[in-house]
Amino acid sequence: MNKSLLSVAEPPIENQTQHLMPITQRPDVVFTKGKGHYLFDASGTAYLDMMQGWAVNTLGHSPNFLKHALLNQAEQLINPGPAFYNKPMIELSNTLCSASVFDHVFFANSGAEANEGAIKLARKWGQLNKQGAFEIITFKNSFHGRTLATMSATGKASFAPLFEPKISGFKKVPFNDPQALINAISSNTTAIMLELVQGEAGVIPAEYDFVKKLETQCKQHNLLLIVDEVQTGVGRTGKLFAYQHYGISPDILTLGKGLGGGVPISALLAKQAVSCFAPGDQGGTFNGNPLMCASALAVLEALEAENILSNVNKMSELLQTEFFELSQKYGLGQIRGQGLLLAIDTGAYDAHQIAASAFRKQLLINAPRSNCIRLMPALNIGPEEIYKAMSVLEDCLSELS
Ligand SMILES: *Cc1c(COP(=O)(O)O)cnc(C)c1O
Repeated sequence: MNKSLLSVAEPPIENQTQHLMPITQRPDVVFTKGKGHYLFDASGTAYLDMMQGWAVNTLGHSPNFLKHALLNQAEQLINPGPAFYNKPMIELSNTLCSASVFDHVFFANSGAEANEGAIKLARKWGQLNKQGAFEIITFKNSFHGRTLATMSATGKASFAPLFEPKISGFKKVPFNDPQALINAISSNTTAIMLELVQGEAGVIPAEYDFVKKLETQCKQHNLLLIVDEVQTGVGRTGKLFAYQHYGISPDILTLGKGLGGGVPISALLAKQAVSCFAPGDQGGTFNGNPLMCASALAVLEALEAENILSNVNKMSELLQTEFFELSQKYGLGQIRGQGLLLAIDTGAYDAHQIAASAFRKQLLINAPRSNCIRLMPALNIGPEEIYKAMSVLEDCLSELS
């Protein structure tokens, strides 16, 4: 059959996707290529990507260094299996620990799985050190993932009625409220777990004083401090890890999203004193997979070699300035966030409508709530893409006015 006949015969998208579980609403576009700050659909139309796979593609789509890391590793060794050491796994653990306050790493595949590991570690530590204390304090509007335990830890109201009965042992308190936190601590508490910027909630930063008080409470009551940096880690906020902005020293940290620069890898990091898994307690068939670990190593190397953190801070300022001007002009609201995890409240405008309108103009932005737009572009973004995104965003606003 000739090719043009085949393409004429291409069925409508709903007839191609009927075997996919409808877990989210996707637009009628199939992306077939990505390069840098742009995604391309099958017809070659370019979309400026300010979401980057949900804050995952740390240095944009298919950067050369990542392609080479994947190719080189694929030629050497894709999978010796979880029962054996491999070189990228060893190197990545050493790199992460020398760049942080942690001593041990367990690699997993998703943020939820890393957080699940953190929850298990805190419970084991409570068994060993606190007469079986198992309760973990988490926060309202927090997001920790979609496994049953991490959904149970999550403070998103819409999760509350789902998949009952949940995993017990999570107490949710209002964010940035030190007194509510203090009141929630009991002899059952083993840990406090938080995001330093609540990403899915609409980019809500933890206040400096709140975090300091939280750390003090952990010390006073002998509680583990677990920081979920699945979204904020790996340079997103302008430091390698967001905890470094606060001058705190968590016991446990989780990474995911941006760690692999586009490929699925996550990490659970712990200080030696709390790293109490014994052989058999934790595992996973794909843990420490060399293809993924080699990618993460390449991302960390590129962040340093290309001085990316300084770019994050510069571009963050530019974006905030641009947001501020838009806000003045269209009566939008607060600008929040740090580094290249930024959001703006949309005032009287419906953020979902803005995002849909932007999509029709080939700009990919995200509305985590109906009154807020979030941007999480690649960390090597430049002024050119920022001005372009802002001009499209302004077109959307003026059309919706
Ligand atoms: C995305 C996210 C998760 C879940 O990560 P998955 O890879 O989707 O499992 C957990 N915590 C935070 C803060 C996140 O942003």
